[in-house]
Amino acid sequence: MAGTTNTFEMAQAQFDRVADMLQLDSEVREMLRWPLREFSFRIPVRMDNGTIRVFQGFRVQHNDARGPNKGGIRFHPAETIDTVRALATWMTWKCAVVDIPLGGGKGGVIIDPATLSIGEKERLVRKYVQIMFKNLGPRQDVPAPDVGTTPQMMGWMMDEYSKLAGQFTPGVITGKPVGNGGSLGRTEATGFGVIYTVREALKHLQLDPKTCTAAIQGFGNVAQYAAIGFIESLGGTVVCVSYWDRDDRASYTVTKNDGIDPHFLMSITDQYGSINKAKAQEAGYVIESGDAWITKDVDVLIPAALEGQINADSVQKISQKVKVIAEGANGPTTPDADKILTERGIFMIPDFLCNAGGVTVSYFEGVQNDMNFYWTKEEVIAREDEKMTSAFNAVLAMSLKEKVYMRDAAYMVAIARVVKAMELRGWI
Ligand code: NAD
Repeated sequence: MAGTTNTFEMAQAQFDRVADMLQLDSEVREMLRWPLREFSFRIPVRMDNGTIRVFQGFRVQHNDARGPNKGGIRFHPAETIDTVRALATWMTWKCAVVDIPLGGGKGGVIIDPATLSIGEKERLVRKYVQIMFKNLGPRQDVPAPDVGTTPQMMGWMMDEYSKLAGQFTPGVITGKPVGNGGSLGRTEATGFGVIYTVREALKHLQLDPKTCTAAIQGFGNVAQYAAIGFIESLGGTVVCVSYWDRDDRASYTVTKNDGIDPHFLMSITDQYGSINKAKAQEAGYVIESGDAWITKDVDVLIPAALEGQINADSVQKISQKVKVIAEGANGPTTPDADKILTERGIFMIPDFLCNAGGVTVSYFEGVQNDMNFYWTKEEVIAREDEKMTSAFNAVLAMSLKEKVYMRDAAYMVAIARVVKAMELRGWI
């Protein structure tokens, strides 16, 4: 299994490793290695030209022992049931590691959303809700945005669910637009959360963030706010970001060795995280190949694009200078690359801890919807920082106590909490 690039096999391999360490019983493993429920369905949508196009949709509910399933819906042309299973599984561990009372779920549709008109997108997400209606709900399964989906789509989905339910039900979905039940601070939450964990890691390693450099893969929602946080709240330098260019069908790294300006780059980036490279070049940025980001002589690497990016090949290109990897993306490191990183002593902030800021603020969004009372952005961000910092420190303490890799420590903390909830509910 070590050489696998199948995301779900990766998620299972990571779980199995820690299940062995924890000597979990076989029935507990059987409950946790697989999702509790899976939905695979066809979604017929009327296109603008009058024809019907049929899309493939998925929703996976991995485990809801600690609370309703929670997790985004991804629109991607290469989406598979195994990717959705892996992401749902990681959501279970993510919610448990930050200790919020939610379980793990995830959804997906095989589609490149950039190929759809606004009307087609709206009809597609409304149909998704119609098909899944009975199995979604604030106390059942609460979707959110992910790669390729937006707050506006969440607003439509909330509206469709509310219509079918016959009552305003903002808590059925998170990541909604502000003013429509959304929480302030949600847009920044995942990227800022990555930086809270980086700040704690640098503190532990006794490194001054102001002297630290970072290279980031991706320039979407997570990467943009991770870049802003690294520069503006830690005082460090980001030397590059990378992105997928949909016109060229290739990825590029956009580099400025004395430090990128994320606000400028955001002003020339489309809603899918694709940078206008001609404008970047005009402003003095160097355009390099898509894998250049991983070779940079920096202190911190932040993969914040897609899964499987640090693998048996690419791991060899990581500079000796790198001290910390902060996994903004879900599943960016394959198990065989992980082994090499452990041997090299690189400090790993594993995905489901590192990028848990998004689901933490999603949880706060649901709490605010339930109260029908909304917090200020400062309140949301302060509460997120508190949750992320205490989760990081719980995992670090486990890692030091058990003398294990940070990813294994995060699994130990998360699995123990889920197993306890299953025991208390009499499932096992
Ligand atoms: P996004 O769609 O906003 O951005 C994705 C970025 O990655 C874009 O800039 C895109 O151009 C780039 N990209 C895609 N393929 C690439 C490649 N091969 N090389 C380089 N860049 C590439 O997505 P996002 O919301 O920022 O999510 C990024 C990752 O973080 C995903 O793994 C997602 O599951 C995870 N995540 C997101 C959130 C969230 O709140 N948005 C929360 C937790 C985890």
